[in-house]
Amino acid sequence: MQVLKFGGSSLADADCLARVSAIVRAELKEQMLLVLSAPGGMTDALVALSELAKTGQDYSIPWQALCARAEGLKSEVTNLAQAPSAWPDFQDLKRRLDGVALLGQCPDAVYSYIISFGERISVALMQALLADLGAHNVPAEQVVRSHGGFMDAEVDLDVSKQLLREYLHANPAKVYIMAGFTGADAQGNLTTLGRNGSDYSAAVAAACLEAELCQIWTDVDGVYSADPRYIKGATKVDHLSYKEAMELSYFGAKVLHPKTIMPCAKAGVPCEIKNTHDPMLPGSLISDEARSSQPVKAISSLQDLAMLTVSGPGMKGKVGMAAKVFTALATDNVSIVLITQSSCEFSISFCVYQQDLALALHALEQAFELEAKAGLIEPVQVQRHLAIVTLWVTRCVPTRAWRPSFLHLWPRPR
Ligand code: ASP
Ligand code: MG
Repeated sequence: MQVLKFGGSSLADADCLARVSAIVRAELKEQMLLVLSAPGGMTDALVALSELAKTGQDYSIPWQALCARAEGLKSEVTNLAQAPSAWPDFQDLKRRLDGVALLGQCPDAVYSYIISFGERISVALMQALLADLGAHNVPAEQVVRSHGGFMDAEVDLDVSKQLLREYLHANPAKVYIMAGFTGADAQGNLTTLGRNGSDYSAAVAAACLEAELCQIWTDVDGVYSADPRYIKGATKVDHLSYKEAMELSYFGAKVLHPKTIMPCAKAGVPCEIKNTHDPMLPGSLISDEARSSQPVKAISSLQDLAMLTVSGPGMKGKVGMAAKVFTALATDNVSIVLITQSSCEFSISFCVYQQDLALALHALEQAFELEAKAGLIEPVQVQRHLAIVTLWVTRCVPTRAWRPSFLHLWPRPR
């Protein structure tokens, strides 16, 4: 089994869809499962629609634009191949938007239905284009079991493995098509896997099916040694280990969703990044071996961070201070991106996303109110607009302890 995932930019218009259909035909060996994102920009449009509805604003014009775009794609696909046999229910979507407008709120369950609608459009369009191959639509809600809410759900790999395998067994086909980004919880409620979560869907499917390869088709040539928007000499990295890819995606390389690598790594399925616009070009291969002749393999960056420093005479040698800092933040659901402590234990510094800064400061103020009054803790220092730059070193200096990467904080250029 091959698993191929196509992102929104590869599905944005009829030319893109035709290109994907050609790639599928060229790559198809025995059996293939396609995982599709929504047509480029459509999820953002759905997010905007639900926001307008929720806030009581008129959404008739963006609604008509969305319908017109989908109808346009449908008629172009019909001209190229045939009419989609199962078209998503736009009236159903409209009813839910109207319901949101009426209530003035959008429960997560409804929101996840609305924002995953684009994936259903992609599946319907692609199924029509690949109808001659007998392409079969796999209902993601039936085979991707998730837990952890509606919006950023985690996939339950063992249950999904059984569900997906049973489904494919009962519905034999050469080409399967499944909506990315979508799952369902144990009660059968539709869930979404987090923005850009289709990569994760593909990785999950590849792991469940023990696929020979999981290909992520996108609009760049692969994982780059640095962000080409900032660094001119950036080059494509041919091979990465799972661990490198995981950390690179966490520390800012945008090509892969950070949750993607774990399922592939667990199942030992190699993952390849390929460019839809240049299918013959070798992409970046992520597997359990890393090969490189370069001393520095890649540089990635994560932006819009703030660094907080908690310090004071009460920190030195006091057991449990770090635990208190991080418990306070965890209680308020603040995610910490990076932690460092001065060697004399006088201060702890850590980075949070800028958007969480106010919450983090408030949590710390409350937790250390007494220490602050007693002069044991100084006012928390804040540095805003930082970026973490991660330098990936593959060769080590023999006398130093080897670390796969080291991190440095840079003020963000403005
Ligand atoms: N369509 C969803 C999004 O834009 C999922 C994805 O593209 O992976 O977030
Ligand atoms: Mg995407």
